[in-house]
Amino acid sequence: MKLLRRPDLELIGIDKGFRGRQVLRQVSLAVQPGEFIAVLGPSGSGKSTLLKIAAGFEQPDSGSVRLQGEDVTTVPPYRRNINTVFQNYALFPHMTVFDNIAYGLRRKKVPAAEVKQRVAEALALVGLASFGPRQPETLSGGEQQRIALARALVNRPAVLLLDEPLSALDLKIRRRMQGELKRIHEEVGTTFLCVTHDQEEAVVLADRITVMRDGGLEQVGTAREIYDRPATPFVADFVGEMN
Ligand code: ADP
Ligand code: MG
Repeated sequence: MKLLRRPDLELIGIDKGFRGRQVLRQVSLAVQPGEFIAVLGPSGSGKSTLLKIAAGFEQPDSGSVRLQGEDVTTVPPYRRNINTVFQNYALFPHMTVFDNIAYGLRRKKVPAAEVKQRVAEALALVGLASFGPRQPETLSGGEQQRIALARALVNRPAVLLLDEPLSALDLKIRRRMQGELKRIHEEVGTTFLCVTHDQEEAVVLADRITVMRDGGLEQVGTAREIYDRPATPFVADFVGEMN
């Protein structure tokens, strides 16, 4: 059934270099609506650059980005129906939690009553309904990460990009947040593309996993396909480290 639907996010033949160094090579990936894809790969393999190109923070040298069927390759980030959660949360430190989450809606001139309601919904979604008046510095790492998620989701993006969203958290909290992330993904139905270096996280959360190496996608498939039938010796080696 999913195959008949238009992919939510399509990266088509993306090449990207920095100062003559090739960082992405012919990357193509189609993410289906509502899908959760995890991007695994060694440090420096180009994972963050790929997300930045999807979000519009970087331009590809060649290739194109499509969002819900529309070519957005030259569309600036704030006009794309896509949002990003970064590893370091990047909350505005001088604003309350409420104002942090409301920021994007207010910039889009959403009426105040609707802002209030949508922020309340977003806070409830991440399990922090009473946190609106708090200052970011009074929150734990896990709480800050939830607020960053609420801030991204309050805009109701078609696609949410997550760049190592849980890696700054200690292990116990990270495992708890994994469950939260799964629940939130199921509840909002938004398409998630999530970079992680935690293979267990990828297996627990993702519908499909892609393994990156040296700027290319080595394999895209379900966790079972990746582990049982690695496409290349590199994938076998890389995922083999888990066992
Ligand atoms: P990953 O997220 O997989 O660790 P990145 O996408 O951050 O990898 O980086 C891939 C490669 O591109 C690295 O070698 C990095 O140094 C280089 N790179 C990333 N962004 C820039 C930039 N703005 N300028 C120059 N080199 C960059
Ligand atoms: Mg990175």
